[in-house]
Amino acid sequence: MAQYYKLKKKIAAGAQFIVTQLGYDARKIHEAFLFLKQSGFNVPIVGNIYILPYGAARMMNNNELPGSVVTDKLLAEINQERNNPDKGVKARIMRAARMYAIMKGIGFNGVHIGGHNIKYEQVEEIIRQGEALAPQWTELIKYFDYQMENGFYYFEHDPKTGLNKETQLNRQSAKAAAKLEISYSISRFFHMLMFDPGKKLYGVMKTISRKIAGSILENIFHKLEHLTKVLIFDCKDCGDCALIDIAYLCPMSQCPKNQRNGPCGGSYQGWCEVYPFKIQCIYVRAYARLKKHGEEAQLDNGIVPPCNWDLNQTSSWINFYLGKDHASKRQGSS
Ligand code: SF4
Repeated sequence: MAQYYKLKKKIAAGAQFIVTQLGYDARKIHEAFLFLKQSGFNVPIVGNIYILPYGAARMMNNNELPGSVVTDKLLAEINQERNNPDKGVKARIMRAARMYAIMKGIGFNGVHIGGHNIKYEQVEEIIRQGEALAPQWTELIKYFDYQMENGFYYFEHDPKTGLNKETQLNRQSAKAAAKLEISYSISRFFHMLMFDPGKKLYGVMKTISRKIAGSILENIFHKLEHLTKVLIFDCKDCGDCALIDIAYLCPMSQCPKNQRNGPCGGSYQGWCEVYPFKIQCIYVRAYARLKKHGEEAQLDNGIVPPCNWDLNQTSSWINFYLGKDHASKRQGSS
């Protein structure tokens, strides 16, 4: 879901066209198209067709090329095709041509045809065959039934077409499955007390920040704040705090890419691209934390600006109350 929130941010930031992630599941290809249409975005969508040889398929299957999905079933088929006299070349050109036809039939505005060591003639052949197959594109969907086990789908499955209905899947089960994290509940409570205008501690903290800013006390205050935040959030003292943007997960210490508008395209089954099967993506955790409270749309709250490095190693609390950081500017306090 967070990937779709990010897609909206990209369009809001000025993306003039969308290229789909590399994949071979017709339902996901259709989903991206339908999501844009339902969201009312009028940006062209370009389908990603990668001519898939066995070596690349095996790497994608092993998650060695983050963000690209090749299921066990597809890998087994490509492995079988290697036994053909041409070592599977015709089969992979046909697979690409079928994708071309399906994308054209769904309504994509164009395709990007890629691969390693491919020849111009092969690209021409894909376009020629794709155009010839396009009128029967619905009959080709069966060749791209590569759904991921427990994979995320935005829309309900349409068994008649093999694609999606226009109704969104009910994700209440995700709410029930989300764990209630005590640290999140405590953070929520204190954030509301301290950083919501109108709450008691907000006024007190703002007055203190104004009085001590620039004095020797600021240093002591900063050290105390930092110690607290290291213990709770593993804070790296960036001074432009993004905890509120990611359900109280620090992007500076817990995301190797320090992403403030994540998730990146590399997370796999909810795991961080850099630490697969070891560390969960913070955006997956944030979604689950927010979902438990029915507030997951907070991740859809617009673009978070890059960290302001002028504030590095300064008190993020004082920066907030004095209106210097991005959170206060968004809230309109100064
Ligand atoms: S976002 Fe910055 S200030 Fe906030 S916890 Fe992380 S490092 Fe500390």
